[in-house]
Amino acid sequence: MRRPWQPYISKKMRLFATNKTTLEVTAPRSYGRREAKAKGNLLDPVRGCPGAVTNGGRGCPWGCYAVEATRRQHVMFNVPVDQVLDADLLRKDLRKCHDTWVRIGVNGEPSCNWELTTRVAEVCRSEGKDVVIITRLWGGAPDPGLLSRLGTLGVMVHVTLCALDREPMRRRALAFLQAVNDAGGRGVLRLVTFAFSPLHPAREVQDALWAWGGEVLEQPGRLQPANPTYDEVYKPVYHPCMNHVTGEPNPRWRTAGTVYSGTACADECPTCHHQCLTMTAAREASPYHLPQTSATPQALD
Ligand code: SF4
Repeated sequence: MRRPWQPYISKKMRLFATNKTTLEVTAPRSYGRREAKAKGNLLDPVRGCPGAVTNGGRGCPWGCYAVEATRRQHVMFNVPVDQVLDADLLRKDLRKCHDTWVRIGVNGEPSCNWELTTRVAEVCRSEGKDVVIITRLWGGAPDPGLLSRLGTLGVMVHVTLCALDREPMRRRALAFLQAVNDAGGRGVLRLVTFAFSPLHPAREVQDALWAWGGEVLEQPGRLQPANPTYDEVYKPVYHPCMNHVTGEPNPRWRTAGTVYSGTACADECPTCHHQCLTMTAAREASPYHLPQTSATPQALD
């Protein structure tokens, strides 16, 4: 019997890992990312994301890995479901976690409940972890009181954008990033890039986003050929992505690699898949010198 379609279940939040974030989770799986509980530094205050209904149900212009993975499990990923914060349980996980930072927003959109996300960030900071929140702002920006609490914690907030997003979405994201900086946090534009032909109008938009005036982290877009976005890009420069677990090319996904250069991660964390800008890998990799720049994380306490 086919599994019925249903939203995520509301469960107690636990730290988890995927095979992208830890080498301990290496067993191959035919779809999605394998997860391991309490071995990683990932957290989802909300599971599911309303962005899943965009791009013909593929989720965001690049095509969402979580949409694809959960479809096969008959999970209604487009329905955001608050998870349960048991602060004592989360503290236990955080004390076992070797990473110095926690990523909030993996298989869900933290902006769908900023109040819960802020409380989770406060627990993480109270255990000495840097907090990186990754969002598309589908749920909007937090109200001033919550933004102030996040700023006091010194959280880093990555807002993911690409040049194919509509202008109001881009404007709202940049204004929010500036507000995060003004509140005492660190706003980072996580720019998903594509190789466009010189005459494509999105090329100019992408260049402007890259030069928006604040921190930018380039994330080269990966596309499946069936995604309509693939018709927008300059295909001759696209090639199969490398699977970071097997080290083999994966023909299902194509990328043009980086369009720009000079992101802090590319400069300082060359072996790291996390793309977090906390410079953790750079701090731990002795051959690399970590300059005291604006990209250097603030002192924690
Ligand atoms: S915002 Fe993220 S989780 Fe939501 S649909 Fe887009 S890529 Fe997927």
